[in-house]
Amino acid sequence: MEIVRDVAGVRAAIAEARAAASSPLRVGLVPTMGAFHGGHLSLIRAARTSCDLVVVWLFVNPTQFNDAADLTGYPRDEARDAELATAAGADLLFAPEVAEVYPDGYATTITVSGVADVLEGSHRPGHFAGVATVVAKMLNMVQPDVAFFGAKDAQQVAVVRRMITDLNLAVVVEVCPTVREPDGLAMSSRNVRLDPDQRRRATALSRALSAAKAAVDQGERSATSLTAIIDAVLAADGLTAEYIAVVDPSTFAPIDELDGPALVALAVPVGPVRLIDNLEVAP
Ligand code: AMP
Repeated sequence: MEIVRDVAGVRAAIAEARAAASSPLRVGLVPTMGAFHGGHLSLIRAARTSCDLVVVWLFVNPTQFNDAADLTGYPRDEARDAELATAAGADLLFAPEVAEVYPDGYATTITVSGVADVLEGSHRPGHFAGVATVVAKMLNMVQPDVAFFGAKDAQQVAVVRRMITDLNLAVVVEVCPTVREPDGLAMSSRNVRLDPDQRRRATALSRALSAAKAAVDQGERSATSLTAIIDAVLAADGLTAEYIAVVDPSTFAPIDELDGPALVALAVPVGPVRLIDNLEVAP
């Protein structure tokens, strides 16, 4: 696997591969912020399965962090990431410096309305503008045929889909299921910052979502009741959610009474980190 630092380099490598191929090359892009875990690797493997050339983007994007301490404390280990990406089947690791992505005088930001204004959008001001802008930039830099995202960040997927449609970007989005630890905790780069007690209590997020799903399976339809069920599971472990929401999976509009598929999403501070998780439920 080759490591590339600049846009010219990644474009040249892709152009060379396209020119050498006897049939049209399917290029897959896996956008990440590094500190790889099983979730990232599942996206790289999915790209490897369905694409001819797999480009992994590794960039801790400063503009999507609304909390300076979160950015400073964000785990980074490029050497380990490069080894894991190689083993998972990546062909190129595109790991630019901040100045390569945001050149001097940089003055353009993409703002998605509606779906980006709620939940993560309202609790992390500026977050989705940072995400939409960097995703648009990387899609332009790499020009992949397919981009792979994780269902763990369901609202990010909805925001990116909205932007791709609105800006007529020629890329297909593939969404891969959330990869979990054996005890249910959704894998996240931030999990390494949990101490053993916080790590144990963090399983309350997935247990709460499973309890909500079980309630729906038994006939519960009220979002207020599902929220109360989740709240109680979290409270038993001394946790309080920043938000618990039952929303339409594509628009993120709130749902009061379930009459079709819905996404149950939550954000919960656990010690030094803020964890998010979600689960799709259907009556
Ligand atoms: P990040 O490095 O956290 O920005 O994540 C990069 C990509 O990996 C995003 O599309 C995430 O949704 C995805 N991802 C993160 N955690 C998981 C997980 N546990 N399972 C599946 N995909 C994940």
